[in-house]
Amino acid sequence: MSSNDRPNPIVIKYGGNAIVDTELTREILYRIIKLQKEGYRIVIVHGGGPFIKQNLKLAGIKSEFVGGQRKTDSKAMKYIEMSLKGEVNGKIVREINLLGAKAVGLSGKDGQLAIAKKRFHYDEDENEVDIGQVGDVEKINTEIINLLLDNNYIPVIATIAAGSDGIDFNINADNFAGFIAAALNADGLILMTDIDGLMMDPEDESTIITELKTKEIEGLKGKVIKGGMLPKTEACKYAVDNGAERAIIINGTKPDLIEAAVKKQDFLGTIITK
Ligand code: ADP
Ligand code: MG
Repeated sequence: MSSNDRPNPIVIKYGGNAIVDTELTREILYRIIKLQKEGYRIVIVHGGGPFIKQNLKLAGIKSEFVGGQRKTDSKAMKYIEMSLKGEVNGKIVREINLLGAKAVGLSGKDGQLAIAKKRFHYDEDENEVDIGQVGDVEKINTEIINLLLDNNYIPVIATIAAGSDGIDFNINADNFAGFIAAALNADGLILMTDIDGLMMDPEDESTIITELKTKEIEGLKGKVIKGGMLPKTEACKYAVDNGAERAIIINGTKPDLIEAAVKKQDFLGTIITK
């Protein structure tokens, strides 16, 4: 519990392919709303990789990933902001409202929820690389989030923010969720993805790592943790080391797992603690 007796929030990062399938989206949001009605304070942070990919393709813009982050030039930035705020955020807010709860869509810019800065980035061989307008969070201002939560709204946050220099930044959704979870002292950061969790060998489900300490992450980078799992584990480590109780990576295509993760029941996924 926080000092003023409000339960600490749960930050759920939602994205990947689970967001493309409208039936699955409804199923997931239904579970989330049920938890909110039980009294959990839920914040949704979303990505939108498949939508961004499609819109960049339509615009004829090439896009590549470097160490799990999408390289973003100014042309790509425009389409990424359009995809996330215009398409994905609007869709999630609409679906939550249709299910009878109240959602408010925001990006990092709203209420100065997040101030971004350019990300110093390293590729998978640990070389420093310039990936353009990809940001990290410099500061989170939790005021607007708490205002919404206190009034029973579900904040739905698109991961775009501006820097204090007025430049727009695209922030990886896992990282953004990690920063928010830390700032809110979240009871849990739940990262929903398209695989059951972090695995020693992603080709072999039986190698899932069910429990991990944040200090073990560095040693697994590159060998075990690759691609999209790089920002995920980085976000989990940041959140847990800076104020969140725990972080959990679950398969977002299995909606039953959301409740189990929130309620700390037995479930299959990767739990990361300090
Ligand atoms: P999301 O849209 O959920 O962010 P990503 O594609 O960015 O999904 O990240 C999840 C992907 O990370 C998995 O589908 C898998 O291909 C990849 N991955 C890399 N290393 C691992 C690992 N050790 N365990 C599990 N998945 C891994
Ligand atoms: Mg990803």
